[in-house]
Amino acid sequence: MRSINKQTLLKGLNPQQKDAVLRTKGPLLVLAGAGSGKTRVIAYKFAYLTSALNSHPSSILTMTFTNKAAEEMRQRIEKLINKSVKGSWIGTFHSMCNRILRKDIEKLGFKREFVIYDEDDTCNLIRSILKEFRIHEAIYKGIASKITSLKASLIGPKKFLSITNNNDDHYGFDEKFARVYVRYQDELKRNNALDFDDLIMLTVKLFEKHPDILKKYNNEFSYIMIDEFQDTNVAQYRLSKFLAGTRKNICVVGDDDQSIYRFRGANVENILSFERDFPKTKVVRLEQNYRSTQNILEAACEIITKNSLRKPKKLWSERGEGEKLFYCITNDEREEARYIARSIRELYLKGRHSYGDFSVLYRINLQSRALEEAMIEYSLPYKVIGGVSFYQRKEIKDIVSYLKFITNPDDSISLKRIINCPPRGIGAATITRIENEARKKNKSLFETMKHITHSNGTATALKKKVGSFVRLIEKLMSYKTSDIRRILLQIIEKTEYVKSIDEERAENLKELVNSVDGKDLRVFLDTVALYSSSDDSHEGDSVSLMTLHSAKGLEFPVVFIAGVEDGVLPHFHAVKSPEELQEERRLFYVGMTRAQDLLILSSARKRTLYSLIQKQEASRFLNEMSPDCYLCIERKPRREILAAPVGGPISLVKFTPFITGARVKHPKWGVGVVRDCYGETEDLKVMVNFSSVGVKRLSLRFANLEKL
Ligand code: ATP
Ligand code: MG
Repeated sequence: MRSINKQTLLKGLNPQQKDAVLRTKGPLLVLAGAGSGKTRVIAYKFAYLTSALNSHPSSILTMTFTNKAAEEMRQRIEKLINKSVKGSWIGTFHSMCNRILRKDIEKLGFKREFVIYDEDDTCNLIRSILKEFRIHEAIYKGIASKITSLKASLIGPKKFLSITNNNDDHYGFDEKFARVYVRYQDELKRNNALDFDDLIMLTVKLFEKHPDILKKYNNEFSYIMIDEFQDTNVAQYRLSKFLAGTRKNICVVGDDDQSIYRFRGANVENILSFERDFPKTKVVRLEQNYRSTQNILEAACEIITKNSLRKPKKLWSERGEGEKLFYCITNDEREEARYIARSIRELYLKGRHSYGDFSVLYRINLQSRALEEAMIEYSLPYKVIGGVSFYQRKEIKDIVSYLKFITNPDDSISLKRIINCPPRGIGAATITRIENEARKKNKSLFETMKHITHSNGTATALKKKVGSFVRLIEKLMSYKTSDIRRILLQIIEKTEYVKSIDEERAENLKELVNSVDGKDLRVFLDTVALYSSSDDSHEGDSVSLMTLHSAKGLEFPVVFIAGVEDGVLPHFHAVKSPEELQEERRLFYVGMTRAQDLLILSSARKRTLYSLIQKQEASRFLNEMSPDCYLCIERKPRREILAAPVGGPISLVKFTPFITGARVKHPKWGVGVVRDCYGETEDLKVMVNFSSVGVKRLSLRFANLEKL
């Protein structure tokens, strides 16, 4: 295959972009607004390094945040250089760290077959610790996010303890939390498991403790590139510094106006620190936006300039004025959703757009329901990006947990997931008994179960039940792990799992089996664990529905932003804090700058939020835009009682709605957690995630749910 000629390559760039691409020695910071070609610089630079300078593709480390962005990056590069870059170091921070740790984690006392726990697994682990410590389980989410932000700042349990012991309550956590954190980390190690944040934190630790390993990578990588640098946290920043080594051939690109992950520990200060930590950094600014029409760009810039904490920057577009923005005021979220669906249908029928050209963005996940209903009503093909992903479905997670467990029998979280799934009469009491026994003997759960099975003495009911499970697992372990498809089929057959599920779920399992053909087991398990729900790829030609957070880095010809209301965007959590308000403004800016040709904003006069019908005001951000920017379309107001609970006060007494996150008990399916509660009057619906059967949608009137 012919590789691209240097001159042809550089023709695709403006002078500043060219400058950034040609600078191949020393630190480089590309700081520029949305749509100015930052990601393009990374792709072209990769092509330039490999084609013109003959660098080997595997000597370049390119990191970004989502699998989807990484995949897009890889495709852009392959198109440019006209050859495959399979096996090279292009990926997310997490997947690159996973690759490093798989080689050398033994030096940190873990086994190389470690499993990666996703959010669900870590929450289960935290809950079991809270239960043991007799701390209210309901706070597990708060604990999980505290642990995440500590790890993002490279504060492991030991360091945290030393901080709390010194009575320095700078981090504001009490001793109880410290105990949970220590225990959590111990349990992970005992299970030979890592959570997402460990992937980064432990790689940093590995480099700190073993300079020889770091040196190996410093020699291997001749160049490092990082996209969306504004969203790196302390740990990722430290990692980047390590990897840049002494050569410091590192290029980072970012936009402080698009920093939207502060709540997860991202630190926009990293952009400022970069110039300090890497003296002689060349800073390149890109000012031409190639994505959006002038009207869209100007409106977005008008909003973002209201933020005080930002680096000022210019941004202009040559794409012509384009259409004005539209802003539609509707009566409620259903009318809003129908307005959006109708607009999409009309634009589609004009023949200039395919469905994939449209995206509908929203601030909070629960907004997607009304939008989805309207998509269905208008027969529009759509895809929710960031909804429950394929790998998060219960049946898939169950079967994958079997796989995880037979590759790492120390993994007690997976064991607990599969031990009674499908039901085999091993209840919570039995599991607690085995757990106590395991703790006493300092053995893993499975070791303990094997011991019970093979011990002498009478065949108790416990021994029988546990014994048949142990034999099942041992049988599954005996298959050669190279044929993952066969193991999956065996798991499904031997566990008789299909008997306990409906047809749709069984179809999903077939899809799983078909998808693994020819894959390596380890690689498959890592992919599943690192696959976050926002990475769902677009299937066919369909409208994309997603949160503003998931939209980062993407672009669409037509963008709708729904729910431009105070309390939604900006989110009601943020309205009291000036800093959080600035983050909301950045989020709005990210959303607006995804649009290439048309940007349509909408709001509702009343909206059902958390089971209450609330009167909504238009977003304060709209007042920050000059009225010339947009055309306002107003639906005739309907006369209705506002601010009343769903169904009016009488039905509220009759059917007290459950709040999201509440734990409930169903007579047949046992304990579950409320995911959503919606609907009106006699027709209140509740969506509950039961550990036994997965998510069920129930009518509150007939469900007989008990509040726990
Ligand atoms: P974001 O801030 O949203 O991540 P970005 O700065 O990374 O945006 P890109 O996605 O790289 O911007 O580019 C935006 C669009 O402009 C893309 O479609 C890209 O192909 C196009 N583009 C960028 N630079 C040029 C150029 N010099 N000539 C033609 N098109 C360009
Ligand atoms: Mg980009």
